[in-house]
Amino acid sequence: MLRRLLDSPWTYFGLAGALFVALLVTQFEIKLPPRPKGTADDIRALAQRDDVNVVFILIDTLRADRLGSYGYERPTSPALDYLANTGIRFERAVSQSSWTKASMASLWTATWPNRNGVMRWSHSLPGEAVMPPELLQKAGFQTAGIWRNGWVAPNFGFNQGWHTYVRPQPSNSPDKFQKRTPSASAVVGTDEDLTRAAIEFLNAYGHKRFFLYVHYMDVHQFAYDEASAKFGTSYSDVYDNAINWVDRNVGVLLGELQSRDLARRTILVVSSDHGESFLEHGLEGHAKTLYREVAEVPLIFSLPFELNPGIVVPNVVANVDIWPTLLDLLGLPPMANTDGRSLMPLIEASARGETVEFDRPAFAQIDRTWGRPTGDPDPLVSITKGPIRAFQPTAPGKEGEVEFYDHAQDPWEARNLAQPGPDGVRRLPEPIHAAVQEYLAMPPAAWGEPVDVELDEMELHQLRALGYVVQ
Ligand SMILES: [Zn+2]
Repeated sequence: MLRRLLDSPWTYFGLAGALFVALLVTQFEIKLPPRPKGTADDIRALAQRDDVNVVFILIDTLRADRLGSYGYERPTSPALDYLANTGIRFERAVSQSSWTKASMASLWTATWPNRNGVMRWSHSLPGEAVMPPELLQKAGFQTAGIWRNGWVAPNFGFNQGWHTYVRPQPSNSPDKFQKRTPSASAVVGTDEDLTRAAIEFLNAYGHKRFFLYVHYMDVHQFAYDEASAKFGTSYSDVYDNAINWVDRNVGVLLGELQSRDLARRTILVVSSDHGESFLEHGLEGHAKTLYREVAEVPLIFSLPFELNPGIVVPNVVANVDIWPTLLDLLGLPPMANTDGRSLMPLIEASARGETVEFDRPAFAQIDRTWGRPTGDPDPLVSITKGPIRAFQPTAPGKEGEVEFYDHAQDPWEARNLAQPGPDGVRRLPEPIHAAVQEYLAMPPAAWGEPVDVELDEMELHQLRALGYVVQ
């Protein structure tokens, strides 16, 4: 059995495993043995170690303000809060798009959307793009990506650098899970499948140095089990239930790391690709706008030791900063030509109780016609700088549809402060206008433009099943 498991760890997604994990997820409470205690001085020393693993947890569609550690009054997320409160929590992290594929292309390549160009439904990252798993594999890590969202499928170029890149066999548990819509039910399986696959990976490769990416999907699906049905039945309540369900999965994974004595050798990162709208600006869902509810996501670094108190970084940072920071933490060479920067100086300043300026703005972009193969592009760019958030459409004739918000007075972007100029056309104030123009003038990434891929009917069906309109 052990021999076969090591030979082919991905064949053991059987019913017994499913029941085993289901039991753990249902019973999970935060009663974990403590990791070693550490201080801010130990953070720099991580770069000298050669035994530190990385677990990268991406929780699709998770807005920051629905987590207890980000101020939410409901106890949706005890496991994530534990990681945030004993690690590094970035108070204001901005994702680079509100659509999974564009957001993940930026996150992995540490480049702004305008530079990697992955904007349309058919766009794929070319093989020349440099992906962090390629770097970690070269550095000796065993690499595995486990996912259920078709927008990060291999045909969009996200399979570069993985020893294993897998969508696990879905379990069949339709009665146990609530789902929001009939179309959501068409996405088979649950996040338990991912947790189970992650545990199989730890069984097979936990003795080696590893990089494990788990891309949870049930918050996107508004799916949850009975034990997580705590917060009501409205659309927004069900979203909270789903967060609690995925949080339980994270708790199980954390427990598995602890029980294998891996937590003291693992950096765990939690992030999201975008949030979700609940009619704040007249729309539900995501992948349409760049308002705060779809743009601000959690970003948590949990270290191989506990910090007490944890570090809170107040600056506006971006998902493009995640990998430059992680490589810096690990003491590995940086990626070339990134827009993201290492956040180590901000972490160290926050640990000392100091606030430092971080003047690099966070950009995001969505092509609002991305799902229409024959439609003209309709790009919207956002800039976030300190308390300022502004929006600039760039399609011909739409330049005047700008929006400008000041979070100091208006944290949820209800009052557009952009004023018409003498010509009657609204324009962003300088220097915000200038910064957006500078962004738009940036050259493409070193590997060039994205490539176009053809999707077959089955792949299109899977993407439509996520609730997207792909024509
Ligand atoms: Zn997504």
